Amino acid sequence: MADFPVPTDADPSLAELLATHPHLSTDPLCGLLFEGVPLNAIADALGTPCWVLGAGTLRQRLGRMRAAMVDAGLDVSIHYAVKANDHLSVLSLVGREGYGADIVSGGELARTQKAGIAAQRVVFSGVGKTDAELEYAIGLGVGQINVESAEELAIVSAIATRLGKQATVTLRINPDVDARTHAKITTGLAANKFGIPFDNAAALYAHAQTLPGLNPVGFATHIGSQILSTAPYRAAYARVAELVRTVRASGLRVEAVDCGGGLGISYRNEVEGQPEALAGAIRAELGDLGLRLSIEPGRWPIGPAGVLLSSVILRKEEGLPRPFVVLDAAMNDMVRPSMYDAWHGILPLAPQAYGQPVAPTHVVGPVCESGDTFARDRLLPPLVAHPV
Ligand SMILES: *Cc1c(COP(=O)(O)O)cnc(C)c1O
Repeated sequence: MADFPVPTDADPSLAELLATHPHLSTDPLCGLLFEGVPLNAIADALGTPCWVLGAGTLRQRLGRMRAAMVDAGLDVSIHYAVKANDHLSVLSLVGREGYGADIVSGGELARTQKAGIAAQRVVFSGVGKTDAELEYAIGLGVGQINVESAEELAIVSAIATRLGKQATVTLRINPDVDARTHAKITTGLAANKFGIPFDNAAALYAHAQTLPGLNPVGFATHIGSQILSTAPYRAAYARVAELVRTVRASGLRVEAVDCGGGLGISYRNEVEGQPEALAGAIRAELGDLGLRLSIEPGRWPIGPAGVLLSSVILRKEEGLPRPFVVLDAAMNDMVRPSMYDAWHGILPLAPQAYGQPVAPTHVVGPVCESGDTFARDRLLPPLVAHPV
């Protein structure tokens, strides 16, 4: 599978990894700190495996996205993509800070309501919305439904009409641009299941005006995830801008464009996507069209705000060319390495580990699947079982 390019350069050292993850630091006495809090203390108090989410990091990163848009002179609403992490505390923070939510299921919608995010600030995306989910969303009065096909448009119209409601909709366009990311998280190519073919969009938008129960306001696009350059964004937004101009020239109103999510982060030694560059791409292509704009970031704000704490169950090395370090966390706690061969940093909690020599180590979970592997040949100091 190995769809992510297998890195040919050396892995970053522990110090280099810390440098690209500024919310993490080390202390000679307490070891690894997250937002200044010793992670050892959390592991001792709560046990492992355990996810730690940093409200400060999440707040700061969302704030940086908002500031980037404002500084570019853009009025852009930010809808946090709930699928990136749907913990109620995360959603409550998102709501309290005045952001909206982008959801892809009825369950996610229920969680936003529990967390106090106004339905008006919720955008319903996704390629497979069930009738029951649409009834729930339209009944609640969600702010926007991003429709992904002609078939879905008819269903939304019928459900809204039956409920005596007007559903605000955009058409999600498949711009057929390559986001140059992992094949499993590319969504904006014509061959992908997502969105309405670009060439059908103008006619379908005109058709939407004639259907009952609908308030068509514009277009949406989302070309993929873990995008690290602005070129694919510019290409996609240029196509959407072209569509807006065409549709307006035919006499129809277009008020809103939803610019999607997808900005990438640094896992290994990538330079993370810059919200300021994203804002620049939006401004360059869509800034002068007098549109209500929005974005749907998930990974960028929340990814660096979470760490998975795990203990070593066993170090297994007798008769083996490389030691296996068996953790109490597994693929069910974090599936990305098993699913995408994704590279995640592994940092020891103990302070003394940072001065020790490193050696190639396999780091695995205890599940009965060989895919339950976090890292192979990772250069790590000697990790040993937590004393019991
Ligand atoms: C997944 C998704 C997002 C968020 O993507 P990130 O890469 O996490 O920013 C936004 N919009 C839609 C429609 C999505 O499916």
